[in-house]
Amino acid sequence: MNYLNAKSAPAREDRHKTNIAFGGTAAKMKGCLQKDCFGKDGCLNLSSRSFTQTHGCQFTLSLAILNSIRNAVIVMHAPIGCGICSIGNVGVNKTFKQLRDPSAEGVIWLSTNLDEADVIGGGERKLREAVLYADRELRPETIIVANGCVPALIGDDVDSILSDLQEQTAAVIVPIHCEGFKTKVMATAYDAVYHGILKNYVRQPNREKYIVEREFEEMERQYRISRNVNILNVGSMSRADELELERILTGIGLNVRFIPCYAEPEDFSYSLETSLNVSICGTHDDYFVEHIKEKYNIPFLIDTIPIGRKNTDRWILRIAKHFDLEKEAQRFIENENRILDASLEKYRGVLKGKKVFLAGGEVRIVATAEIIQDLGMEVTGLKAHHFDQFVEPIFDALENIDDVVVGVATNQPFEQANLLRRLKPDVLITHVGGNNIAAKHGLPLFPLFGPSYNYMGYSGVFEIARRINRILKNNQFNKNLAEYTALPFKEEWYAKEPFAYIKE
Ligand code: SF4
Repeated sequence: MNYLNAKSAPAREDRHKTNIAFGGTAAKMKGCLQKDCFGKDGCLNLSSRSFTQTHGCQFTLSLAILNSIRNAVIVMHAPIGCGICSIGNVGVNKTFKQLRDPSAEGVIWLSTNLDEADVIGGGERKLREAVLYADRELRPETIIVANGCVPALIGDDVDSILSDLQEQTAAVIVPIHCEGFKTKVMATAYDAVYHGILKNYVRQPNREKYIVEREFEEMERQYRISRNVNILNVGSMSRADELELERILTGIGLNVRFIPCYAEPEDFSYSLETSLNVSICGTHDDYFVEHIKEKYNIPFLIDTIPIGRKNTDRWILRIAKHFDLEKEAQRFIENENRILDASLEKYRGVLKGKKVFLAGGEVRIVATAEIIQDLGMEVTGLKAHHFDQFVEPIFDALENIDDVVVGVATNQPFEQANLLRRLKPDVLITHVGGNNIAAKHGLPLFPLFGPSYNYMGYSGVFEIARRINRILKNNQFNKNLAEYTALPFKEEWYAKEPFAYIKE
């Protein structure tokens, strides 16, 4: 894989077989992922709907990573409405940055505020003004320019403008081509961001050359590198998740660095001093780790996500195998499982048999389903934003899943409403951004991820059990919402087959 000579990353639908419209069972979905079926007959090739209600935009998802980069100013080259979602992250981003560096600034962004006149006359003047203002007034280490649809549609030559501006600014300018209209698969955002990072931040660190007298120090450094692991964190991870994964990997003798979220630009250079890049989620990271392997020959691991005990066990063992630390890992895993079993005992009785519907990113929902089964609950349905080959190993941890209903939809809340009416789960586990609609179903609602909670590793299993137990005890708020607010769907829709609008 090498797309770095191109201006921007290709859309996911061109690079991978990816599906955004599917309705069926888990068995059928797994069948589509088999090598002899993969991509044939349209089962993975995007597919579409004859009616679509809402969609996602890669510009907004790109901001989930970009807003977390430290010492940066984001320039949104777009109308003012694009990127409005950043307002919802301001507090979290600032806090999380300061957990790494107490003096870190919060999210700083400017918008070029393109309007009708700019659509006619072009956005070049506003882009130049915004970048120069950011450099001179705010003095960041880097200026990240995220492009929305409008500059691409009106033909702003953003790269030429920015390369000209680079001669005039102290900050490193990084263009991110994340125009929403270019893809139907939101996950293209990750590639768009990594494309900019790979081209502008990743380069061999400027280390002092070691002279012969310091040979011993150099040997020490090389030993450290032989035990270094980069964990590719994701925007939906909390600091508590990171600390848990760090605890696990240092427990078997490894050193951990987290990138890209909440990293500083120079962290990407030092990230080359590692022996293994470990992806938390292949959907998120394959573009980055494949390019690093090709350019710097650093191996990578894309397998499962450490959510749920079986997935966590497997994740640790795969990493340990690379370092020949399997015995240490096995001992660690046995001990952790013993402690976890004892701690879950008090929740099993309450949670046993409760039906759960999960909606969100494919990798996360299927991994979280493992915890649901571990606690004796029943997975009654899954709804993924999209699906591709990265979900395949995560199914291994599930049992009796073949008949479970699976829908694939990037948002499309009308399908979810229909499914919930039919499947009648006791708990809905869903994406935090979708809760405003989901809560009106009156169900206990458990966020699929949360910026201040622990979901990953062994402690994550305990935390999920503890919190689901709590929300099941008191769901009065959502019940009141359901009683006093109306969902916008008619009875005729509920009577219809939920996947009626999916085109084969
Ligand atoms: S789809 Fe285009 S116009 Fe809409 S928010 Fe995304 S970048 Fe902006």
